[in-house]
Amino acid sequence: MFKLEEITRPNIKNLTPYSSARDEYKGSEGIFLDANENSLGSPVGENYNRYPDPYQLELKKKIGGIKGLLPQNIILGNGSDEVLDLLFRCFCEPEKDNVITCPPTYGMYEVLANINNVETKKINLIPETFQLDTDKIMTAINEQTRLVFICCPNNPTGNGVKWNDIKLILEKVNGIVVVDEAYINFARYKSLIPELLNYPNLFILQTLSKAWGLAGLRIGMGFASSEIIHVLNKVKAPYNINSMSQQIAMQALNELPKVNEWIKEIVEQREMLSAELSTLPYVTKVYPSEANFILVKMQSPQQVYNFLAEKAIVVRDRSKVALCEGCLRITVGKKDENLHLLEQMKRFAE
Ligand SMILES: *Cc1c(COP(=O)(O)O)cnc(C)c1O
Repeated sequence: MFKLEEITRPNIKNLTPYSSARDEYKGSEGIFLDANENSLGSPVGENYNRYPDPYQLELKKKIGGIKGLLPQNIILGNGSDEVLDLLFRCFCEPEKDNVITCPPTYGMYEVLANINNVETKKINLIPETFQLDTDKIMTAINEQTRLVFICCPNNPTGNGVKWNDIKLILEKVNGIVVVDEAYINFARYKSLIPELLNYPNLFILQTLSKAWGLAGLRIGMGFASSEIIHVLNKVKAPYNINSMSQQIAMQALNELPKVNEWIKEIVEQREMLSAELSTLPYVTKVYPSEANFILVKMQSPQQVYNFLAEKAIVVRDRSKVALCEGCLRITVGKKDENLHLLEQMKRFAE
């Protein structure tokens, strides 16, 4: 049975959070002499002389409207990485607790564990199918396991993970299961957001960096029970999302139809690219993808990488990553970019 009480670090449980000027007075009209801001204005005219809303309420309402969630079930971070870091700082006691990752996967989970001095138990995915090795994960889970990271669709393999496997882990661990859905918009299956109602230890991570086309704004989104969000809110930097990012994200979220068009186009291009890549004589496997990139196994991946780099086409060399031997990871680009890539890759074979 999951008990948030038991997994929250004692120093965090007892923490009196910093109370900012904007926490204490929430109105938007008035003469503001409470935050030592420059009352004369900002040099660029906008309201940048004022501190931003520490809890980003308007933006959370907007995101909540799209995702079917209330603001109290949402935390925003300066990129997903900030949200991930908060999970470590709230729930993992350094040198005592552990977390589980399932390589090959997103590298930040382990980097953040190392920064926070928390042990990482690595349970590799099953070769070729890249599904979770649930037997080994079940054995690895112990009293000190606080976080289990499941990336779905997984980076760099591109596949989705079976819900039944995730469910087993959710039911077993007295810790938080973090399902990283950075690429969910490109997948054929749906987000696990509705399952938040059934699993108090489920934490879903999404981002505006991929399908929403806002990697430069740095906005990551965590969805969970209001109890988990409350703990994270105590620890986050008071003004962690700047005014400009909040404003631009508000505008961008009005563009849902355009973003949905892009998603459709990227998925079409992904299927085209997958089919064409598999016809190349030196390509030995194109892994099925639910994301906006494709993992491709080939002979001489490094030579292909260098050949493409000489033509100013940059892909990601994953050929030295365990279980990805011989693989390059290729992001789906614009149609003409993809065609150009294919043309060059055909040329490599000649
Ligand atoms: C790109 C990516 C993210 C997003 O990171 P941001 O910090 O929000 O830009 C998160 N998880 C995975 C697996 C990713 O590949």
